[in-house]
Amino acid sequence: MSWTGDPTWLAEVLRGEGLRVVEFPGWRERGHGDFGDLWGIVCHHTGGSNTPPSEIAYGLPHLAGPLSQIHLSRDGTVTVIAVGVAWHAGVGSWPGLPEDNANFRTIGIEAANNGTEGWSQAQYAAYVGICAAICRRLGYGADRVIGHKEWAGPKQGKWDPGAMDMNAFRRDVQAQIEHKAPRKGPGKVFNDEMIRNRRGQDINAGDMIAYLDEHTGQTLDQLGGPGTCDGKPFPGWTQLGGRTVVDALAAVGAALGIDGFADPKAGK
Ligand SMILES: [Zn+2]
Repeated sequence: MSWTGDPTWLAEVLRGEGLRVVEFPGWRERGHGDFGDLWGIVCHHTGGSNTPPSEIAYGLPHLAGPLSQIHLSRDGTVTVIAVGVAWHAGVGSWPGLPEDNANFRTIGIEAANNGTEGWSQAQYAAYVGICAAICRRLGYGADRVIGHKEWAGPKQGKWDPGAMDMNAFRRDVQAQIEHKAPRKGPGKVFNDEMIRNRRGQDINAGDMIAYLDEHTGQTLDQLGGPGTCDGKPFPGWTQLGGRTVVDALAAVGAALGIDGFADPKAGK
């Protein structure tokens, strides 16, 4: 385990995952001490559908905030609450974590949810995105993401996050860590970024990338033979005698006796 320190990069990394991020005032100074080695993430639900980020930052009468580093709202908005240690895990145990001492090794995520209402697509997708972004930044897999119920179930009877299968959740996180998220398709990559193409059309960056990918691949195949765009070393076309377009042109020129043309296959 290497020293990671406080995750001062949280807001930046979460934005980089495409999440809608709010920086709660003072988050860079908030915490019950500094992190040493970050092991991973503990996922929670707050117990209420509308728990505000301020409650996670300032805490409750019996428990001083911050109560976690991250708040996740029902609509998928991610609020970064604290950079330092937060009181979210309590007593518990899990392989790889020191018993009853997860707060100093894990980032806590408190999702506004009563635990039985289920997860909106926006909130679930953001939850996956938060965990994937943090794990990727730390160089970890999704096995470093656990639910509070997994950590503290036996000791505290915790059941959060409710209505969530942690194994399925980890599979989704792992897929996103590896960028295997469902294909977004043309135009869905950077929805808002508009670019004027050379024909004067305003199109978004996702459409532009999809267009470039398709047409560059087609052009490579046309020049070098089918599969060139997949990395095959210029296989050539059967109807050109196994030649690439360049070699076929050279052969035609050589057959016509044009000065300087040579069929590379003739000498073989
Ligand atoms: Zn919890």
